[in-house]
Amino acid sequence: MSWTEELAHEVEGQVLTDDASREAVATDFGRLVVRKPGAVVRPASAQDVVSVVKFAGKHTLGVSTRGGGHSQTGQSLSEHIVLDMAALGQVHHVDEEGGTVTCQAGLKWRSLVEQLAPQQLSPPVLTNNLDVTVGGTLSSAGLGVASWRHGTQADNCLALEVVTGAGEIVRCSADQNRELFDAVRAGMGQFGVITEATLKIRRHRPKFRSYYLLYDNLNFLLDDLQTIMTDERFDYLESWCAPCAQGFRKVGPAHTPFAQWFFPLHASIETDGVDVPDTTRKLRSLRFYKHVDVEDGEIDARLDDSELLLARTKELIGNLSAGGEIGAFGRLCDAALLDQ
Ligand SMILES: Cc1cc2nc3c(=O)[nH]c(=O)nc-3n(C[C@H](O)[C@H](O)[C@H](O)COP(=O)(O)OP(=O)(O)OC[C@H]3O[C@@H](n4cnc5c(N)ncnc54)[C@H](O)[C@@H]3O)c2cc1C
Repeated sequence: MSWTEELAHEVEGQVLTDDASREAVATDFGRLVVRKPGAVVRPASAQDVVSVVKFAGKHTLGVSTRGGGHSQTGQSLSEHIVLDMAALGQVHHVDEEGGTVTCQAGLKWRSLVEQLAPQQLSPPVLTNNLDVTVGGTLSSAGLGVASWRHGTQADNCLALEVVTGAGEIVRCSADQNRELFDAVRAGMGQFGVITEATLKIRRHRPKFRSYYLLYDNLNFLLDDLQTIMTDERFDYLESWCAPCAQGFRKVGPAHTPFAQWFFPLHASIETDGVDVPDTTRKLRSLRFYKHVDVEDGEIDARLDDSELLLARTKELIGNLSAGGEIGAFGRLCDAALLDQ
């Protein structure tokens, strides 16, 4: 009997060995690393995870825990066994008064958000990409536009159920098995498999206003960020840098592309839609180069947009990794980036 057949006898859930199932988990979002497993296990319970860990230990096989597979450099891949945690994706309990939700670790954040939305509840921190799992981002910390105030998603995790490398199911929190709790959060799947999590949730307001600001001076941006984080005048903050290609300049004998850097800042506030935020007060003393736009909308619609953005990013990465055309402007920006 092959090891995959033997494994199928140990597990209540599915053990998949067909080519399509193994191919589907042979790479991740980054598509840089390819590792096709011998078997994909879709566990039916935490007990199945125990069986897989013990089986792998006994047969000296590697196990990788996979959530949404959105990591970029092969962290969720294995040549032997991939534990497909998406099979464990249920919400177990919502405690509205206590402000907590308990769910299985393979649950996608998008599904959690959708299930909490009717009560106007949501986790304090959400990543830009919601098609990742609770276990996946707790394993990598999970940063979002509200992290400047609430920390990471791992900081907003109250308790975990974990299957350890010894194949034991252990509950841990700040008060119980603290060492395991601290190791597993942001542990990239190296210290145990998270099977269940209890997370903080909060009541949010239904609408938002976003100010789109553009900086041409990094020091001004950093000073302003310090100001607005200190006086807490916004709820969500997101910023990044973008090169504006300036063409070519002569460096030594060769003409070399160069860029001017700009720094967009999106500063958003949750609103109830009745009181209009006072723009003059919100933008007081900030030293941006341009106030590009202002947007009012529904929180739920904003989350839908993130799905669209993700699809576009995936499309772009797909094109690039397939040697696709990025266009003359793309190549110029690329060269400028390498030049900086
Ligand atoms: C387009 C895009 C946008 C992103 N935006 C953000 C962002 O805004 N903020 C941010 O913080 N991150 C962001 N990320 C990174 C992403 O959140 C992390 O890579 C995250 O770990 C992916 O979760 P996943 O469910 O896909 O996990 P996977 O990629 O499947 O796994 C990630 C790691 O976690 C481990 N793991 C997964 N599940 C478990 C479990 N149940 N128990 C133990 N270990 C487990 C895996 O073994 C692996 O090491 C983004 C990624 C992409 C591709």
